[in-house]
Amino acid sequence: MPEVRGSPLAITVRYPAVNQLVSARDSNFLLGSVGSGDATLSVNGMPVSVVPNGVFLAWLPLPPATSPRYDLLVTRGADTVRRSVAIRYPVRRALPAAGVLRVDSSSVVPARGWWARPQELLRVSVRAPRNARVTLTGADGVRRPLVAPVPAAVTDGGPGTQAVPDSVTDASVVFATDVAAQVLADSARPARLLVARGSDSLLLAVPYVRALSATSRVVGALRSANRVGSDTDRAISARTIVNGTYKWQLLPQAVLEVTGRQNGFTRVRLDEALDVWVDSDEITLLPDGTPLPRRVTGGIRVAPLEEYADVVIGMGDRPAHHVEAEGRTLVLTLYGVQANPEISPLQGGAAGGDSLVRRMVWEQVTSDRVRVTLHLSQPAYGWLSLWDEARRAFVLRVRRVPRIDAAQPLKGLTIAVDPGHPPAGSTGPTGLYEGDAVFPVGLKLAELLRARGANVVMTRTSLAPVGLTERAVQSRRENAHAFMSIHLNALPDGVNPFTTNGTSTLFYHNTSEPLAREVQQALQARFGLRDLGVHYQNLAIARPSWYPSALAEGLFVIIPEQEAAMRDEAFQLKFAEGMVVGLEKYFAWLKREAGR
Ligand SMILES: [Zn+2]
Repeated sequence: MPEVRGSPLAITVRYPAVNQLVSARDSNFLLGSVGSGDATLSVNGMPVSVVPNGVFLAWLPLPPATSPRYDLLVTRGADTVRRSVAIRYPVRRALPAAGVLRVDSSSVVPARGWWARPQELLRVSVRAPRNARVTLTGADGVRRPLVAPVPAAVTDGGPGTQAVPDSVTDASVVFATDVAAQVLADSARPARLLVARGSDSLLLAVPYVRALSATSRVVGALRSANRVGSDTDRAISARTIVNGTYKWQLLPQAVLEVTGRQNGFTRVRLDEALDVWVDSDEITLLPDGTPLPRRVTGGIRVAPLEEYADVVIGMGDRPAHHVEAEGRTLVLTLYGVQANPEISPLQGGAAGGDSLVRRMVWEQVTSDRVRVTLHLSQPAYGWLSLWDEARRAFVLRVRRVPRIDAAQPLKGLTIAVDPGHPPAGSTGPTGLYEGDAVFPVGLKLAELLRARGANVVMTRTSLAPVGLTERAVQSRRENAHAFMSIHLNALPDGVNPFTTNGTSTLFYHNTSEPLAREVQQALQARFGLRDLGVHYQNLAIARPSWYPSALAEGLFVIIPEQEAAMRDEAFQLKFAEGMVVGLEKYFAWLKREAGR
């Protein structure tokens, strides 16, 4: 770290920003620079150490809600500089137990625009004072009480909620009950909530919920809102809950039954036993009366090709599906499908037999769910789900392990080098931006890879922003054999950076774990930072399945010493070398495992 001494004092706070909403519970970090390493800093009267290049990272109790700001005081001899940074805390209106009855009308659930099955039980809730009584009157005229939670569970406002000064004390709780959607579904007789306390009462409208027909279907076709790439590069992400973690990558144009809508998401039924949520922008409703496709598998056959083998399953219409890889097996789940397959012999055929798919086992798991398990002769390495319109067939393209030279494991392979960000990304105390900091590491990595005989796909060749989808599409089109994403880490509000920092490497598919592990070990050995491990994360950039991907969070840009290291060319090279060693070890391992 270069020392800075005798420079003018100047306070820059990189985090938090002025008037930033801070959702930590009791403590938070603060980072920035005071201009010179020989100055003394205090924040809200507490001493904070300044490192030799004049930057600081502080972990401090949150300022009180009555005075939500950080007062920074920097001194050196007679020289003094001050600065204040105001922040904000999440607030909510207090609902008192006495006086005029108040409720939070914005807290009424359901919100506008919900759809549900008529018999489906929906939660109706509202925040109101604990000592009130709340009743729901639905379209059927029946009055139902809403129930408040037992007192012990509700004294705290929850994580991130500060006690906000108010002339009154908040006595609110959330009252709730579950009712059939049809009770909320008559626009001529809208449901109402009555909140009463003593002689005081308030009436609130419950937004109309559209109850889907019990005797006919609403059907929609998936479409990718992302316009990048061809159809084979597009997928529609589906989740178990509204705004939840991505799990399924569905084919565009798959036609599915719509069973609900909430807050910008549409629920689709994959089969009789499984409903999932997609972004409402990614589904087009089809005309009333559109029948749901019937999908019955015809023949299943394996078409072997040089770089991959296609498992071709005829079924008339695009299914919803999911692929899970583990070791030497690939498990394909087909939803809303009945299997009636004729499995062609796996040996023989134009390419003289296929050694990749050894065995194929199919099961009708439920009346409309099929599982096809592929037992491979080598570790599952990459795959792609396609729809073959000409043959009306679902195709699972299974990639073979590439030919690997034992002496020069990267020779002839194509490696995608992905310097993370922009857009987004974090910034260090001197203002070093993650996207700019990882770019030279990417260039050095590319150079080292080329020197080892690899072809390189750079997902970003300048400091300008490149979207995540574009990066993935380019890497798949150029047939990358591995994808290496370079990042620096930061922390959310409320996490102590002094105890939580180090090196971690992330993956998404199980098949990428061995690559992530080798990269982690190589980086760890070079950096000597705390080992934060190798773990799964729901990363968009690592979701493509055609190649293994690892995302290295090499170090923390918010830690002064680690930010300084990222400005050093020798350290950048060390970072790139670690990734090369990780890749070499991974491909050497893969060659041994694949036995070719
Ligand atoms: Zn990042």
